[in-house]
Amino acid sequence: MGMQNRDQYEIVVGLEIHAQLATESKIYAADANLYGNEPNTNVSVITLAHPGTMPKLNKKVMEYAIKMGLACQSNITRLNIFCRKNYFYPDSPKGFQLTQDKTPICVGGKIDINTPTRGEIGIRLNRIHIEEDAGKSIHQANEKDTLIDLNRAGVPLIEIVTEPDIRSSEEAAAVVTEVRKIVRFLGICDGNMEEGSLRCDANVSIMPRGSDRFGNKVELKNMNSIRNVKNAIDHEVDRQIQLVESGEKIISETRTYNPNTGESQGMRTKEELNDYRYFPEPDLSPVEVKEEWLEQIRKDMPVLPAELKVKYMEEYQLPEYDASFLSETRAISDFFNELCQLTTNYKAASNWMMGPVKSWLNEQGADMATFPLTATRMAELISLINDGKVNFTIASQQLFKAMIAEPETSAEKLAKKLKLTVQKDSGFLEEVVDEILKSNPDKVKAYHNGKKNLIGMFMGELMKETKGKADPKTAKETILKKLEQHK
Ligand code: ADP
Ligand code: MG
Repeated sequence: MGMQNRDQYEIVVGLEIHAQLATESKIYAADANLYGNEPNTNVSVITLAHPGTMPKLNKKVMEYAIKMGLACQSNITRLNIFCRKNYFYPDSPKGFQLTQDKTPICVGGKIDINTPTRGEIGIRLNRIHIEEDAGKSIHQANEKDTLIDLNRAGVPLIEIVTEPDIRSSEEAAAVVTEVRKIVRFLGICDGNMEEGSLRCDANVSIMPRGSDRFGNKVELKNMNSIRNVKNAIDHEVDRQIQLVESGEKIISETRTYNPNTGESQGMRTKEELNDYRYFPEPDLSPVEVKEEWLEQIRKDMPVLPAELKVKYMEEYQLPEYDASFLSETRAISDFFNELCQLTTNYKAASNWMMGPVKSWLNEQGADMATFPLTATRMAELISLINDGKVNFTIASQQLFKAMIAEPETSAEKLAKKLKLTVQKDSGFLEEVVDEILKSNPDKVKAYHNGKKNLIGMFMGELMKETKGKADPKTAKETILKKLEQHK
C-alpha cells in the first residue's frame, strides 16, 4: 500500500556523518590511533580516565577538521571551546564525551552532489564539530558477559551535520560518497565504512508533497556501507508512509537498521532522551585558530576533486567521463597530473589511465598508490606511439606488461630489446609481401580486376605476419608497389 502512494509524499533527510581522523595518536592522549590491534593495548591512564589524569589536545585533529571545513567552504570558528557531554556508556570510562557544543570548529558550508532529478545541488552543512570516539562493546553470541575494548576510546572524530536538504535515498548516498571522496583526498580519514572509520546516521521524515512543514524525524543509527544508508532510508520511508496511511502518528525516535533482515528496531524515543548537561571542559583551555595557522593550512590544501574535474574538462579538453574517473582518487589524479607535465597528449594519457592501467590494477587487486611505473615511463610509452615507433596494440598488450616487469628500463630500450618496434625497413617488408601475394594469386587477380578494397585484406595478412609491427604507411606503400609487379 505504501509504495503506490509514495509519489504523494516528499522525503526529507539530514545526515550526521562521523569520520575517524587518521592521526597517529588519539585526540587527548599519546596512545596509538590504530584499528585492529589486540583489544585494550592502546590504552594509557588517560584513555582509561584514571583520576588525576588530564587531556592534552592533539593539534593535528584541529588541522584535519579545519581542512574538511575549508573543503566544504565552511566558516572556521576562531575560538574553540571543548565541552563535556554527560552520559554513561560502559565503553566510555570517563562517563562523559569531550565534544564541541556551542562552538563547532566549522559552521555552514556545503557538499555538492549531482542528482538525476535536481541537477547539481549543494547540500548545506549545519556544522562540523570535533569529538572523541567511545570504546567498543563486544556482545558474543553465547556469552552473558559483554566484552569491552577501549582501543577506540579517544580516537578523534569529526561529525559532519547536514541541514535537512536531502530529498531522496539516492541523494543521501551521493552525499556520503562525496564526503568519503573528500576525506580521502584530504588524507584525513581512510573512509573505510566496514571498519567504522566513516559512519553515518540518517534522520528521516516525510511530508505531503508540496508542504513546507517537516514531519517528525526518525534517526537511523550506524549504517556501515553506502548501500545500507540507501536501503535503511528506503525502508524507513515505506514504514512511515504505512503508518501515516493507517492513521497513525510518527514518533520522533532513534532506530537501528539491521542490514541482514532489512528491518529496523526502535531504540529510544525523544522523551527518553538524555539531558546531556553540556558544560565547558575545565581541563582544556579554549584553543584559538590564529590567522597564520589558518593560512598555512590553506596553503597545504590539495586541489580538490571537483576543481580537478573542471580543470581536466576545460584545460585538457577531456570528456566528463574521463574527468570523473581521473579525479576519483588522489593517487590517480596525482599520477595523471604528473603525466600531463610530461606529455601534452592528454587524451592519450587519459586513455592509458582508464584502459591498460586500470585493467592492470583491477587484475592485481592493487590501487594506484602501488602502481610500479613512474609517470616518466608512461610518458615515454605515449611518445613512442605518437612517434609511430610502436603500435598501440603492441604497446598495450605487450610492451606495457614488459615495462611493469622491468620498470627501471626505458620504454624505448625495452621495445627494441623485445623487438616490438614498428618495422619501417621496406626491404624486409617486401619479402613478406611477396610471400603473401604468391600464396593468394586469385586475390591478386581480383584486385587487378577492380576489387581495390582487397588492399585491406593484404594489410591484415601483413600485420599478422609481422605481428603488428609493420609501420602502416610503409606497409601500404610496399603492398601497392608489389601488386603492380604481380600483374
Ligand atoms: P535534534 O535537535 O534532534 O538534534 P537537529 O535539528 O539538531 O535535531 O538536527 C539533527 C539532524 O537531523 C540534522 O542532520 C538535521 O538536518 C536533521 N533533521 C532535522 N529535522 C529533520 C526533519 N524534520 N526531517 C529529517 N531530518 C531532519
Ligand atoms: Mg541537534
